[in-house]
Amino acid sequence: MSESSNALPVVTRFAPSPNGPLHLGHAYSAIVAHDLARESDGAFLLRIEDIDGPRSKPEFADAFRRDLEWLGLEWEEVPAQSTRLDSYDEAANSLLERGLIYPCTCTRKQIAALPMREGKDGVEYPGSCRGQHEDLEPGPDTALRIDIDRAMEQTGELIWTDEELGSVVTDARALGDVVIVRKDLPASYNLAVTLDDAADGVTVVTRGKDLLESTHVHRLLQALLDLPVPHWHHHELVLDEDGEKLAKRRGSPPLSDRREAGEDGLVLAEQVRLRKFDVGN
Ligand code: GLU
Ligand code: ZN
Repeated sequence: MSESSNALPVVTRFAPSPNGPLHLGHAYSAIVAHDLARESDGAFLLRIEDIDGPRSKPEFADAFRRDLEWLGLEWEEVPAQSTRLDSYDEAANSLLERGLIYPCTCTRKQIAALPMREGKDGVEYPGSCRGQHEDLEPGPDTALRIDIDRAMEQTGELIWTDEELGSVVTDARALGDVVIVRKDLPASYNLAVTLDDAADGVTVVTRGKDLLESTHVHRLLQALLDLPVPHWHHHELVLDEDGEKLAKRRGSPPLSDRREAGEDGLVLAEQVRLRKFDVGN
């Protein structure tokens, strides 16, 4: 850990989405956040990110709490995302009024057929709906996307600080005009997580390196919405024997299975701290 974060109590959080069980990668993420807070006598928060429509299930959130307890972690739970929809609406309205986000009616199929720039995830949306449907409200057929060029022009140069990478100049263009309010949901991950981390007083945002690009978008949103700016700690990912990121869809064994099978969670947590992973496959 860097010296700078030793000085003041830090507030970290673990923010899982209850649309599937936790696996070892989540355990690592939670432990990193937990230990960072404990080292400074700060606070470790649990926030359930449950705005994923019918995919969000309370049973998963219940299992998360048992998993964390099994790993020997202590936390303070803050309100779940589903209770914070008004704050998402308010922020989206403010961005919309300032012409920083715009309605997009493109379907997945239309987007797939558009001439794309190569982006981080293969392709990115080129902004074809920009200036096209000013009067549309978000709804089942309309998302709201950020006008990234306009937004970056408005904020000027922004810096964010990662405990390992140091100062990073924000360039939110890598992901294109990302969605801020989804068609099917009251916000996007990017909007909700940025607002919530600010509301919860998070001072060090810990998450996997796979989300580095999103941090640029979050830094931009903080500037546009006048939110406090935390530090970031992007940690290494937990990889399986093939060097692939552990993920639910790859069938990585859920922590809950290991817990229910009687494995010692405290021993596992220690292995995780030492990055000696038994991925359990
Ligand atoms: N709910 C997000 C996830 O589970 C949180 C990511 C983050 O920590 O920002 O991937
Ligand atoms: Zn569009």
